[in-house]
Amino acid sequence: MELKKIDHIGIAVSDLDSAKRFYTSALGLKVEREETLQGMRIAFIPVGGVNLELIQSDTEEGVIAKFIAKRGEGVHHIAYEVADVSAALDELKAQGVKLVDEVPRAGAHGTEVAFVHPKSSYGVLSELVGRKQGG
Ligand code: ZN
Repeated sequence: MELKKIDHIGIAVSDLDSAKRFYTSALGLKVEREETLQGMRIAFIPVGGVNLELIQSDTEEGVIAKFIAKRGEGVHHIAYEVADVSAALDELKAQGVKLVDEVPRAGAHGTEVAFVHPKSSYGVLSELVGRKQGG
């Protein structure tokens, strides 16, 4: 398994519009696109080839809302680009790494993704991101 680069850094926010204002007005960045995915509003803000992924839950029961209730707003996960998410998961499983996803699931922007449990990666939820075959 080869991690090619940091693909994005996921940041849990309780007010996406307010967070976008900070990153665009104060830091001078631009929102490249926004998506709604599995009950979350997500804004992607590129910085030097890496995206900041601002994430707001639509509901109190969402994973992001729960994360904020427990730990406050802030860095939620770090995502690494890999060539093949399934192969990477097999390698991690073989090493006994605790996973959130045993198989890849659909991510934002036509990607496939899988999460590695924060218990295995020292308190940081890690995400593997790959382009689907032919995608
Ligand atoms: Zn992510």
